[in-house]
Amino acid sequence: MTGAAAGIRFDQVTVAYGEQVVLDRLDLSVEPGEVMALLGPSGSGKTTALRAVAGFVRPASGRVHLGGRDVTGLPPHRRGIGMVVQQYALFPHLRVEENVAFGLRARKVPKAETRERVTEALTQVGMEAYARRHPRELSGGQQQRVAIARALAIRPSVLLLDEPLSALDAQLRSGMLAELARLHRELPEVSILYVTHDQVEALTLADRIAVMDRARLQDCGTPEELYRRPRTEFTASFVGNANLLPVRVGVREGTVDLAGHTLSVATGGAARGSAATLCLRPHLVGLGEGPNALRGTLADLQWRGSIHRLRVDVDGRAVLADLRELRDPPALGSPVTLHFAAEDAVLLAAAAPVAVAAPGGAGV
Ligand code: ADP
Repeated sequence: MTGAAAGIRFDQVTVAYGEQVVLDRLDLSVEPGEVMALLGPSGSGKTTALRAVAGFVRPASGRVHLGGRDVTGLPPHRRGIGMVVQQYALFPHLRVEENVAFGLRARKVPKAETRERVTEALTQVGMEAYARRHPRELSGGQQQRVAIARALAIRPSVLLLDEPLSALDAQLRSGMLAELARLHRELPEVSILYVTHDQVEALTLADRIAVMDRARLQDCGTPEELYRRPRTEFTASFVGNANLLPVRVGVREGTVDLAGHTLSVATGGAARGSAATLCLRPHLVGLGEGPNALRGTLADLQWRGSIHRLRVDVDGRAVLADLRELRDPPALGSPVTLHFAAEDAVLLAAAAPVAVAAPGGAGV
C-alpha cells in the first residue's frame, strides 16, 4: 500500500474536546475506489474521524491527507469532498435541481455545465424525473438520493457517508444499500468512507472495515477476514455472533483446555499454559459426536425461522450452536454433545486487545 497515493490517509490523527480524547492516534488509509466502513458502537469516534476528513474538526495532532496532499489546514470547501449525513439536510425552499446545483454555484461552475452535471448526478441516483420538486414532495428515501446526487455533482474524489441509511425504514434501507453498491461500482476512482454502527451495512458494502471502539481503531480488514479471523474479542463479538470461551493453552502443541475438555485448535504462538479466548461462530458448531466434542446439557432452544439456536451448558459455560437442520430437537435439560472443526476456531489473546498489525507500513 503506497500511503502517499491513498485517497484518504489518517496519519496519527488525534481529536479532543477539552480533556476528552475522542479519536486517539488514528492511522488508516482508504485507497481510490475503495469503500472503507468505520464500524463501531455509538460514541466510539466514527463521526469525529469523518469530520476530520471533511475539515469540520481540527485534529489536536496528526495529519489528514487527501490524494497524497496534506489538507489538515485547509477549510472544508477547498477539500473537494462530497458528504451525505443521516438527516438529508436538503434546503427545503429549493427545488431538487437547485439543491443539487448548490455546490456547483458556490464553486462558480458555468451555467450550462451546471445543468449538465445536475442532470448527470440525478440520473446516477435515478431521480432525474423529480428535478422540479421540492424536498417536502419527496419520500425519505428519495430525499436521501437527492442528497447523494448533491454530493456527487461536484465530482468529488472522496465521498463521506455518515449513517446515510439510518433514517430510512428497514425495507428502504436494503434497497438503498443495493443502490449504494451499484454507485460504488460506477465510481471506480472515488474513495468512500462510510460511517455505520450496523454490521450488515458494513459487511454488505465495504471493501474493508475499520472497527472502532473507545476512540481507537481496534481492527481493520476485509469483511471476510474480520469475520473468519478476528484479531480481538471486540471484533469477534461486534462483527457477527461469537461464542467467546475462556480456555487455557495446553501443554501439548495445538491443544487448549476448556473446562476439562481437551480441544485441538491452532494455537499459533500462544504461550503454553496461558489464558486465552476461543472464538467459535455458532453456525460452525455441529450437534452430535465429532472432533472436538463438547458434552453438556441443553439449557435453551429457540426456533428462529431458518435456524434453531441451542444454548448448551458445558460445565457452567454457555455454548451457542445455530443449526439449520434439526428434525428431532433434544429435550431441555437432556445431555447433548456439540462439536466443531479445528480450522473453524480462532484463538484470541484473553481480554487484552491484540495489537493491530499494519501491513505495508502506513495505515492498516
Ligand atoms: P460516533 O460517531 O462513533 O457515535 P462521535 O465521533 O460522534 O462518535 O463522538 C465521539 C465522542 O465525542 C462522544 O463521546 C461524543 O459525545 C463526543 N463529541 C462529539 N462531538 C462533540 C462536540 N462537538 N463537543 C464535545 N464532545 C463531542
